[in-house]
Amino acid sequence: MNDIVIKHANLVDGSGQAARLADVAIIGDSISAVGKDLGPAKRVIDAAGRLLTPGFVDVHTHYDGQATWDPYLSPSCWHGVTTVVFGNCGVGFAPLKPGNDAYLINLMQGVEDIPEAVLAEGIDFNWESFAQYMASLESKPHAIDFGTQLPHGALRFYVMGERGSDHREQPSADELRQMTALVEQALKDGALGVTTSRTPKHRAADGRPTPSMTADAPELLAIAEGLRRAAKGVLQVNADFAPGEFELLQQAAVHANRPLSVLLLQSDKEPDLWRQTLSKLEIGRRSGLAMNGQVGAKAIGVMFAFDASRHPFLDHPAFSDFIGLKGRDVASRLRQQPERIARLLQERSNTPEERGIKRMLERSFSMNGVLQYEPSMSESFGARALRESRTVWAIALETLMDCNGEGLIMHPFENYSEGSLDVVREMIASEATIMGLSDAGAHVGMICDGAAPSFLLSYWARDRSCGDRLPLEFLVAKQTRQNALAYGLQDRGLIAPGMKADLNIIDFDQLCLAKPKIVWDMPAGGKRFVQRAQGYCHSFVSGVETLCNDELTGLVPGQLIRGPQIRFH
Ligand SMILES: [Zn+2]
Repeated sequence: MNDIVIKHANLVDGSGQAARLADVAIIGDSISAVGKDLGPAKRVIDAAGRLLTPGFVDVHTHYDGQATWDPYLSPSCWHGVTTVVFGNCGVGFAPLKPGNDAYLINLMQGVEDIPEAVLAEGIDFNWESFAQYMASLESKPHAIDFGTQLPHGALRFYVMGERGSDHREQPSADELRQMTALVEQALKDGALGVTTSRTPKHRAADGRPTPSMTADAPELLAIAEGLRRAAKGVLQVNADFAPGEFELLQQAAVHANRPLSVLLLQSDKEPDLWRQTLSKLEIGRRSGLAMNGQVGAKAIGVMFAFDASRHPFLDHPAFSDFIGLKGRDVASRLRQQPERIARLLQERSNTPEERGIKRMLERSFSMNGVLQYEPSMSESFGARALRESRTVWAIALETLMDCNGEGLIMHPFENYSEGSLDVVREMIASEATIMGLSDAGAHVGMICDGAAPSFLLSYWARDRSCGDRLPLEFLVAKQTRQNALAYGLQDRGLIAPGMKADLNIIDFDQLCLAKPKIVWDMPAGGKRFVQRAQGYCHSFVSGVETLCNDELTGLVPGQLIRGPQIRFH
């Protein structure tokens, strides 16, 4: 007897093959059959007219802290994501020497914009080794599956102490040996990879660069040696690819004999650099190396709002006594104080910071109307200011005051150099890329891209009208099977007998994103952006329903993933 049979679904199975009408049966935590006339079931779901996909796999998240206090891992759980991988970009919380949590919090706050108070209050830090961290996570309920990675920043600080926080310090031979052993052990205990960061964009909250920024060949090779000895795991890297850097990372991956996964995005400073990196990935892949670029589904942008972490008036003297007020109160007071509005708009300094904000605003957009993630440059504040004979400051303030003080400004700062997402389409379409970059759980006061899978399907397969789209089957494969395989998770991402019963039943015509909004639901009353979706009729994790009509069921079948997973079918 089947537990569940899903009937008459429009099946997009994760393989990339064309959609087909099929029934899917589930017994326990597995898919037992796919086809027709699958026999009786305790529960039958009529999915006529619905899209049936594997659960989405998001390999680039930062739930390292949140997973200790939030059983649901939102926002990912609202977007059909059934597996997340965290520990990315070299930051995380294990291994940890007693008393060292303050530095790791400082690093996470600086690099991923998760407030110190939230992390300090939310995490109980009852571990030292990576294995103990995994055990601590495993002892708590979770709605979706999650995999961990060993972060280089935490590893360095654990082995080198204070010296480890200074990227210019080099580890001794003995410290290199310790790093190798810890990497090997973490992978054997079940970490899915080791991650590092080499971007000057990443700084601890104290302003110092991320500790792994200039780690040189001996250190990277010591980490690679740990991967080689464990014979499992991915080397994940966030780098800006200064000259020689890709080659160094490739050398480490070759030594490790393990896959290399690098972030791939378009930076305004060097809008074509990503293409050079992509071509190096393609050359490496042709020569038999396992390497891929992790790409986003849209522009990477920050959102400004009175309630967000940042907005353009936050540092203005005329705003100082509004700090801490909710956006709606700011807006209502401003409406009664036209002289204060005049000060905010007219008393502008000419500091480099101010000029930087102005340049940002010139390439910013209102998010207050219909959600549009590929806005025309003619709608940028810069273009509007010229057309409307106003300043970008006036347009920005009006935008923030709209929606009862909850207005949103979007500033796309990566993947939007040409004012179009054609570049993102090119990235997604490449065989050398996987879907990443959602950064779910990070940058919580300015970014909320955990919604990326919902955007990927609805925008790229259905809504985009200003340029070419991509086939739904291709996109689903990208967000499911291909991501899963890149991390050795052969048991998921595909709807076939024997596979894990991680599934989404989606009303694809209705699938859409809600507007991002700030909520104060973090530990210590911390705030974050969340973004919901519509269109998820059901999500299943290991055959258990976690989402029904876009709402969590409260069930918590999610498991810690220990190491690569194999399932034969
Ligand atoms: Zn990241």
